[in-house]
Amino acid sequence: MPHQTPIEFGVPHGSVSPRFERRTVVEPALVAALDAACGASTDPADLAEHGRDWWPLALHWALAGQVPNLPAVVVRPRTTAQVAQVAAACSAARVPLTVSGGRSGVSGGAVPVHGGVVLDTTELSGVDAVDEVSGLVTVRAGTFGPDLEDHLAPHGLRVGHYPQSFAISTVGGWVAARGAGQFSTRYGKIDDMVAGLEVVLADGRVLHVGGAPAAADGPDLASLFIGSEGTLGIVTSVTLRAHPVPDHEARAAWRFASFADGIAASRDAVRHGATPAVLRLYDAAETARSHGGDGHDCILLVLDEGDEGLVGATMDLVARSATSRGAAPGDGARVAAWLEHRNDTSALQALSRRGYVVDTMEVAAPWSRLPDVYGAVVGALRNVPGCIAASAHLSHSYLDGACLYFSFAAKDAGPVEAVYRNLWDAGQRAALAAGANLAHHHGVGLNRARFMDEALGGGLDVLRSLKASLDPHGILNPGKLGLGREVWP
Ligand SMILES: Cc1cc2nc3c(=O)[nH]c(=O)nc-3n(C[C@H](O)[C@H](O)[C@H](O)COP(=O)(O)OP(=O)(O)OC[C@H]3O[C@@H](n4cnc5c(N)ncnc54)[C@H](O)[C@@H]3O)c2cc1C
Repeated sequence: MPHQTPIEFGVPHGSVSPRFERRTVVEPALVAALDAACGASTDPADLAEHGRDWWPLALHWALAGQVPNLPAVVVRPRTTAQVAQVAAACSAARVPLTVSGGRSGVSGGAVPVHGGVVLDTTELSGVDAVDEVSGLVTVRAGTFGPDLEDHLAPHGLRVGHYPQSFAISTVGGWVAARGAGQFSTRYGKIDDMVAGLEVVLADGRVLHVGGAPAAADGPDLASLFIGSEGTLGIVTSVTLRAHPVPDHEARAAWRFASFADGIAASRDAVRHGATPAVLRLYDAAETARSHGGDGHDCILLVLDEGDEGLVGATMDLVARSATSRGAAPGDGARVAAWLEHRNDTSALQALSRRGYVVDTMEVAAPWSRLPDVYGAVVGALRNVPGCIAASAHLSHSYLDGACLYFSFAAKDAGPVEAVYRNLWDAGQRAALAAGANLAHHHGVGLNRARFMDEALGGGLDVLRSLKASLDPHGILNPGKLGLGREVWP
C-alpha cells in the first residue's frame, strides 16, 4: 500500500522555482509514450514534490520556495514491465530518468538535477512471496518499511532493517542507497540482507541476480546494484533474508570516563563474538545533550533480542568488556528513552527553520583508526568559521571496525551554501585523511559526488566504465555518485 506523503518541510506549491537551472526538453511524444505505458503526471505540485528529498541544504532552499530542480514528468509504474517500458522510452529519447522511492535520502540522490523524468516507485509495492522455511521474502521495490514488517509478522518473521527513516523509506531505496538500520550490529546492513534482486537496465532489459544463500558463480552481480543509487539500473524487486521474530530482549547502559574507553570496550565485545542489536556509544557532548551526562562521561546503550540464552551471553560479554575498561553501570531506562525518540526529526527541522546549518556525516573505519578519525573530524569541524557544535556517536559495529556518526551545526557565518560546503569539505576530508571511508550508509548522491575521486581512487574509473557499459546514453540519475555532469557545488 503506497503511503508516500509530501515532505513536511513545505515549499508553497505553485510558486516553486528550481535552484539548478538544468532542464531537459521532454518532447510531447515521450510524454505520450509514458502516459500510454503507465500514466504520466505533469501536475505542478507533483513535479515540485519530486524535485527534492531530505538533503538538509535543500531544506534551507525550501524555506525560500526553491527545490533543487523540477522534473518535466512523474511516472508511477505498477509492474516491472511498465518500468521496462519507461526505461526503454527514456533511453530512446536520451532523456534523464531519476528513480525516487520515499525521497528520504539525505544526500540529494533522488533529486532530478537535470530535469527529465522521475520514476516514482511507490505504486510498485507489496510482498510477492514469503518462504517461511528459508526465511526469505520477495518484496517490490516501492514497499515502505512498516508495510513489509506488517506483512511478515503473521509469518513469525522480520527483516530487522530499521533505519531512523523506516516509515518514510522504501525497500528499493534501502538497497539503492546501501543503508543500515539501527539494529544492524545483529542483523547487518542491507548488503547482508539481500539474497536476490530484479533490476531493469537503462535500455529496458530485465535482469535477475542472486537468489542463493551463497555462490561461486563469478562476481556477485547483485552487489553491483546495491548502493548504485539509481545510476546503473532500477531495482524493481528484492528478495530479503528474514529472521524469526525474537521472543526475548535485554537492555543495559554503561558510563565511560572517555570516548576512547567506550570504543575499546565496544571493540572487545564485538571481537569476542557479541553482536547486540544495538551498541551505541555517545561522546561526552551527545551524552550531555541527550542522555543526562555531566559533560565528561560517555554513555553506551545496549539492546539485544532473540534467543534468551544467546541474549544473556551477549549482554554478559558486553558487561565484562565494559567493566574491564572502567565503566560504571548506567541507567538502563536510557535505552527506553532512546527507543521512544529515535525517529523524531522535529529538532532538526526546527533548527533549519531558525537558520542553523545542520547536518550529519557518517563514515566507517577500522577499530585501530576510530579514535583518530573521531578526533580529526570533530577538530576539523570545530575549526570551520561559524561552527557552534560538532559531536559524534559510534553505532553499527563490525568485527573489524565501526561507523562514526557526526552531527554538526553552524550559524551566522555567511551564505548558507558556503558554510555548508566548508563544513563538509573540512569534515569529509579529515575523515578520509585519518583513514575512514567516504560513507557508511547515507550514500553519495549529489552532496558527496565531489569526494568520490579521492575516496575511490582508480575505483571511480572502474565505476565509470561499468556505467558506460550499462547505461551508454547516461540517462540514469545523471550527476550522482561522481558519475559526471555534476551541478553542485
Ligand atoms: C530522518 C532521517 C533518518 C534517516 N536515517 C537513516 C538510517 O538510520 N539509516 C539509513 O541507512 N538511512 C537513513 N536515512 C537516509 C534514507 O532514509 C535512506 O537512504 C533510505 O534508504 C532511502 O530510501 P528512499 O526510499 O527514501 O529512497 P530515495 O531517497 O527516494 O532514493 C535514494 C536513492 O536511491 C535511488 N533509488 C530509490 N529507489 C530505487 C530503486 N527502486 N531502484 C534504483 N534506485 C533507487 C534514488 O535514485 C536515490 O539515488 C535517513 C533519512 C532521514 C530523512
